[in-house]
Amino acid sequence: MLDSVFGVIDLGAVVLDHQRRVVLWNHWMSRHSGHEAGMVVGRDFFAVFPELRGKRLDNAVLQALRDNFPAVLSQTLHKAPIPLFANHAARTSGVRIQQAVAVTPLAVTGAARHCLIQVSDVSAAVHRERLLRDQALELRSQTFSDGLTGIANRRHFDLAMEKEQRRAKRSAIALTMLMIDIDFFKAYNDHYGHQQGDDTLIRVAGALAAMLQRPQDLIARYGGEEFVVILPDMDSASGARVAESLRQRIAQLAIPHAGAPGGHGSQRITVSIGVATQAPHQPVEVAALIGAADRALYTAKRHGRNQVVIENP
Ligand code: GH3
Ligand code: MG
Ligand code: MG
Repeated sequence: MLDSVFGVIDLGAVVLDHQRRVVLWNHWMSRHSGHEAGMVVGRDFFAVFPELRGKRLDNAVLQALRDNFPAVLSQTLHKAPIPLFANHAARTSGVRIQQAVAVTPLAVTGAARHCLIQVSDVSAAVHRERLLRDQALELRSQTFSDGLTGIANRRHFDLAMEKEQRRAKRSAIALTMLMIDIDFFKAYNDHYGHQQGDDTLIRVAGALAAMLQRPQDLIARYGGEEFVVILPDMDSASGARVAESLRQRIAQLAIPHAGAPGGHGSQRITVSIGVATQAPHQPVEVAALIGAADRALYTAKRHGRNQVVIENP
């Protein structure tokens, strides 16, 4: 009865005697190791698998036999200690079964202590775990980036802005933000179609992002055809210079905009930019800073677009 259980059980089971010789070797072990029971019973387990000598399993067996201590091999440290393979193809390509290995001392009447080595195949669980981890990472990046342009999204901006504002206040450094809006973009869509509108949004976002040099600078899509830039530790004058270089860069892309009113930016895609700065010793609410940048942007629009305007919060 026990024999047939050992034969069908979906688990590797090996019993070693006090001299670490194989006493029992179930069918699962034969199938996945390529060694039939007849070839290994009576042999030193570590002569069957010489690569395991001096490794964690060697130590676990020693502790079970000598000290009567059970052990479970940490799966993160020892993913596939024993050369066991799902099938012939896996053996040829060297892909081992991912294993959970447990070593348990066994009291045997009339003999010195034995030990049981149990090996389970956790490949499926490991695979599933990896899939879940990859999915979690992917979801995480989606939560913080804009699906169309790939730059940070509004949510990312909101969090970063709170953090940078607190940091600026704490360290008494300046914090500048830019609010950028594409000029006459509704007309662009009307003239070229929404699909090309999307392509242009992607190009503009990419060009703006490529202009930001410092690792702490952040550009995000604020909504529709509006972008925001956070420039930590930057005063108003430097912020205005960055804004001006962004404005020029977009004009230089020379993306035709035949739908723009005659004469505007030589009928190219342009942007208007509002600049607002929190001074080192005058912290303001995030909303006030955004409000100032927004007002500056509105002024830039009113004054003819394709320009940079500064406003204090
Ligand atoms: P202004 O110079 O005053 O900014 O004029 P505007 O036409 O750009 O401003 P408005 O806010 O009236 O229109 C913004 C347009 O941007 C409306 C919409 O058609 C377009 N838009 C917003 N989001 C997207 C998008 O994801 N894809 C495309 N293709 N167009 C978008
Ligand atoms: Mg807009
Ligand atoms: Mg616009």
